[in-house]
Amino acid sequence: MGTMKRKQVRAENGRMGSLHAMLTKYPDERSCERRIIEVRWPGGWACPRCGNARCSPVADRNRIWQCTRCSHQFSVTAGTCMQSSKVHLRRWFHAMWLVARSKRGVSAMELAAQIGVSEVTAGFMLERLRGAMARSECLRRAVG
Ligand SMILES: [Zn+2]
Repeated sequence: MGTMKRKQVRAENGRMGSLHAMLTKYPDERSCERRIIEVRWPGGWACPRCGNARCSPVADRNRIWQCTRCSHQFSVTAGTCMQSSKVHLRRWFHAMWLVARSKRGVSAMELAAQIGVSEVTAGFMLERLRGAMARSECLRRAVG
């Protein structure tokens, strides 16, 4: 790695935080789910049925949380690029981090190698992420 490249990497790390820091911050699926809730409901989550502001994860059900008062259940990823995907949220976060900080784009082959999924899966994720990136800045906020 040349000096220029190192400087560039340092600058990018300064702006977005390191990959290591991000993966340490979100060590498991539940922490990713918590982060998605924060980003999707910036003013705080509110139950659409009873207005309660507290929700908790449903045991043994990935991505499903419920209202602590009326037990209304919801999927934290419904309506996001991660909807109905079996790929672990941590891998999605890793992919978002790579895509958000890459200037020249990430190829399916590159993504597959980096996060440990098949190239077909990586291609699907990139398609979803490109749509999401075009629509909003939410990805940067999620993993920044
Ligand atoms: Zn409720």
